[in-house]
Amino acid sequence: MKAEIIAVGTELLLGDILNTNAQFLSQELAAMGITVLHQHVVGDNAGRLKELVEMAKSRSELLIFSGGLGPTADDLTKETVAACYHDTLRFDEEEWAKITGFFARMGRETTPNNRKQAMVPARGRKLPNPNGTAPGVWFEDEGRIAILLPGPPNELRPLWKNAAAPMLAAWQNCVLHSVVLRVCGPGESEVEAKVGHLFEHENPTAAIYAKTGEVIIRITARAATDAEAEAACRDYAKNFYELLGDAVYDEDVEGMEETLVRILRQKGLAITTAESCTGGLVSQRITGVPGASEVFRFGFVTYANEAKQRLLGVEGRVLEKYGAVSSQTAAAMAFGALDAAGADLALALTGIAGPGGGTPQKPVGLVYIAAAHGDTVWVKKLMLAGRSRETVRLRASQQALDMARRLALGLLIPGARMFLRGENAEL
Ligand code: ATP
Ligand code: MG
Repeated sequence: MKAEIIAVGTELLLGDILNTNAQFLSQELAAMGITVLHQHVVGDNAGRLKELVEMAKSRSELLIFSGGLGPTADDLTKETVAACYHDTLRFDEEEWAKITGFFARMGRETTPNNRKQAMVPARGRKLPNPNGTAPGVWFEDEGRIAILLPGPPNELRPLWKNAAAPMLAAWQNCVLHSVVLRVCGPGESEVEAKVGHLFEHENPTAAIYAKTGEVIIRITARAATDAEAEAACRDYAKNFYELLGDAVYDEDVEGMEETLVRILRQKGLAITTAESCTGGLVSQRITGVPGASEVFRFGFVTYANEAKQRLLGVEGRVLEKYGAVSSQTAAAMAFGALDAAGADLALALTGIAGPGGGTPQKPVGLVYIAAAHGDTVWVKKLMLAGRSRETVRLRASQQALDMARRLALGLLIPGARMFLRGENAEL
């Protein structure tokens, strides 16, 4: 099936907002195996919109619109597209009740032009929008489909996922199932090099997205039933596991912290943290996961040297001789936290997040992470030069969580060295 995406809005043409809806929809359609031939942007102008729709409709079976479903006069997408698809609009009491209820909850009153938002296709269908007032719309004309979605991304995305995509799959006589693999360790280009050939596939499709500190691979299969589609995803996922191994840290999770908390709970292990450059980011991520209280009781934010000494028992001579940003200090912080918190695992981070404070020997972006367990500690040195303070902190926290995951599972920690308690953790 061939598709075109039409984003409506003068704001887009003026450059006031970025057309992220088109990017999102293109990715989603590609994952469904639907070919996007064109992306268009058109202003809030009925004549130009009509001209564009007639042309696009004549060559593509599916048109997807974003924007222009609001109550104001410049919101004219619905009326214009209805005419092109030989449909009309009718006032829908049920939608109107939802709209007035929505306004009442916000302590506001509807205005006459809000009635426009309760207009739905006479022949086509409406798509419920739980996050806003305007429903999405589905028009159908001789096997050609138009799907109209609201402009705000926080409305468009859920409406697409929960209503439009399943309807489209049903229309194609199939269901879709996705499995999302999360990969930490290798960068996007390394992942591409290893598994790039797997992204050429038709069904299931696989797509790659980079996120700070990790890579996300989404596998989507089309089949007659959900069970079949899921089985096809699982089968295809095996190829990725074979080539990426334990760098695939989980499936269908929000992030590494969720995986780590689950593993720690399963193994009955408690974790603690001693953070310098990340200022509590690691403990924040861990405690952001429901159920974290089972595995995390307290952590330390020891920014100043004095705090490292007083709270973690890091010896003054270690700080003096090797400096606060060193493998030795990281290891001492980890053991200190482990003992003080009586935990099974400890993560310690010390580094230079920048933008200032770097020296030729210890440049901005240098971070040491230590993960201690019993009498052993693993230390990893990161060089995150050229990145912002926020990125350095985020990537360091990600690596730390991954080290804890690997330690808890008894996996190797690539790029880290192991030392024993009392040994000089020189890196
Ligand atoms: P509303 O009911 O809010 O008026 P609408 O469906 O009429 O919704 P628009 O008026 O076109 O949509 O856009 C509303 C807001 O949605 C814009 O101000 C912008 O923040 C966001 N938006 C619109 N189109 C896009 C797009 N293509 N990409 C990203 N954001 C968009
Ligand atoms: Mg609007």
